Amino acid sequence: MVVGYNTNFNFILPNIEVIKKHCYPQDQCKFSSMELSKNELITKNIPFFGIPVFENLNSQNKSLVIGHNFRNVDDELKIDMYSYCSKDGRYVDLPKFTFCTLIINDPISNAYELLPFKFSILKKKPFIDLKKKFVSHLNPKYVSLCLSKDNYKPFFLKQKTEQIKLKYVDCNCGKTCFVCINKTLGISKSENDIECIIYNLL
Ligand SMILES: [Zn+2]
Repeated sequence: MVVGYNTNFNFILPNIEVIKKHCYPQDQCKFSSMELSKNELITKNIPFFGIPVFENLNSQNKSLVIGHNFRNVDDELKIDMYSYCSKDGRYVDLPKFTFCTLIINDPISNAYELLPFKFSILKKKPFIDLKKKFVSHLNPKYVSLCLSKDNYKPFFLKQKTEQIKLKYVDCNCGKTCFVCINKTLGISKSENDIECIIYNLL
């Protein structure tokens, strides 16, 4: 998660392109998807990551988290987003926000990696192994998640020293909300087309 107040990105370096997509849900909506229309990011292996920016950050939505992942299906790059209230411990309706995708053109070649999930032998839990990749830098600054389907159970990424763990989102709705009913697929070993883009330097 990135938390910050400079949300115009006018400080940005010339090799970074920012695509802003406004998300104004018309009806009550806990999960939404939109097109990014930038399929060449995948085919040309150009690194990118996303930052949702609230329209209004106030006392009513200060406990909200907008979770997101990218999704690459049939050469279409999409963004999946959901909203979670950390105070109430459940999915809530998406607020008005702008989704900013930062694209790093001409990146330093050793600054990023595309890594798959691995599975621990004992616990069989998926994780991203950082150990062997960045010998002197075990602390990536940005992580992008790219999935292949839209029915995965949402999860957060928790960065530790040598790995990034996956933490499924707990919702206390009693399995009655849209997300809990429709997004139920867990990450399994057979899912080998899920990847994280890890940025070590920028
Ligand atoms: Zn729920």
